[in-house]
Amino acid sequence: MTLTAAEVWSRLLDRAKTELPAHVVETWLIPLEPALYAGSQLTLTAPDQWSVEWNETKHSALLESYGPICIGEPVKIVLKVQQERITRQQMDLFVPQSGATITPPRRDNNVVLSVLSDRYTFSNFVVGRSNELATAAATSVASAPGKSYNPLFIHGATGLGKTHLMQAIAHEILTRSPNTRVMYISTEQFTNDVITSISRRSMPDFRRRYRESDLLLVDDVQFLGGKEATQEEFFHTFNAVYEAGRQIVLTSDRPPSEIQRLEARLVSRFEWGMVADVIQPDLEHRIAILREKSQAEHLEQTIPDDVLHFIADNVRANVRELEGAIIKLLAFASLKRRVVTVELAREALRDKLKANDDAPPRSSRHDRMRTVQQRVAAEWGVTIEGLQSKTRTKTLTVPRQVAMFLSRELLGMQLVEIGLAFGGRDHSTVIHSIDRVGEEMRSDTDFRSRVEKVRETLRREH
Ligand code: ADP
Ligand code: MG
Repeated sequence: MTLTAAEVWSRLLDRAKTELPAHVVETWLIPLEPALYAGSQLTLTAPDQWSVEWNETKHSALLESYGPICIGEPVKIVLKVQQERITRQQMDLFVPQSGATITPPRRDNNVVLSVLSDRYTFSNFVVGRSNELATAAATSVASAPGKSYNPLFIHGATGLGKTHLMQAIAHEILTRSPNTRVMYISTEQFTNDVITSISRRSMPDFRRRYRESDLLLVDDVQFLGGKEATQEEFFHTFNAVYEAGRQIVLTSDRPPSEIQRLEARLVSRFEWGMVADVIQPDLEHRIAILREKSQAEHLEQTIPDDVLHFIADNVRANVRELEGAIIKLLAFASLKRRVVTVELAREALRDKLKANDDAPPRSSRHDRMRTVQQRVAAEWGVTIEGLQSKTRTKTLTVPRQVAMFLSRELLGMQLVEIGLAFGGRDHSTVIHSIDRVGEEMRSDTDFRSRVEKVRETLRREH
């Protein structure tokens, strides 16, 4: 009896399922396809070189050992990259392998879906101190588009999740209302679109397309700087969408006022709603992100915890770098056929570790907020944890209000941001607290001098 490649593979795979952890089978074996069975040799095709190498190192010998039991003769496994399969992009390593992604219902003319990355959802986004304000704002916008903050302007250095958050908003809204007309575009595409439409005299079409969107997402608007015709068109698009009460979300690598050669009327519009930043994640946040990525990829057993800590400790610049570090480490381990250890990580990431020495320092804004909390806590004889808690006893309420007041006054922190740092209070509570401190200072001189004393200490420290 001659077996086909599919039959041989199905028998080996069945056996492997009884011996290997399910996630290993899912991640590494299921994606293989039987191509040819001839002369005791089974050729399997893999999605990419990476998968070929991994399976050769980890699973070929095991699969071959099943030959005599499963098909009654020895078998040699040959792995090849299947040419027609599109090469997997680097970052797609982190796409959950089976059915976990949300695919919003498709609409025939909804070109935007092909542009959005399935991976950029809220559920795949790890929230920490560095991005909690932006995440809170994004969530709020996604649940009430056009009603809470409009526009939402997210800024921060590269690789910190701006595009991810922006697309998460789109996914969330599309999941809930599949017929939403979403326009997601990079500023570069917008610029090209303006130029082409002008030269083809199809401006009315252009305008209709943009202005009819229910949700307008424009990525990297810092590139509007210095482009006058594009800014003019953007201004009218913005107004039309805004006036129709529809949601606008923008991202940029810097705040509106720092975009060079951007018309004042655009700067002011960009600041109308909520301006939220994302900064570099701190150590715990980096560990949490790495954990999430490794779990999503079923790599918990491949990458031990101390290695995750090592990466988190040494790769600080941004999240994209963290992802890159894992990919590099795995590729290195596979090529060298070695298990993943801290030692190996040190070798694999040598260049990254070096570059890290030149990385800019972590933003100090949250650290300064913490200092404010510390000084106020010391003056009122309470703990920082108390100030950050939801507890509403008078001993805590008063110093908490003072700390909010000083954060606003000395650091210019935004209301929502302050609310988050003090037990997740909403911005109206923060306004109320700040007003209370103002009133109290006018009516109670003792209270005023205490607040002023702390204020002076903090001023001297900076
Ligand atoms: P930006 O637009 O700010 O340059 P991206 O949104 O492209 O950054 O993010 C870079 C990569 O890092 C993406 O793969 C994204 O999924 C990932 N990423 C960024 N922040 C987070 C986070 N908090 N949790 C999970 N993944 C993140
Ligand atoms: Mg981006």
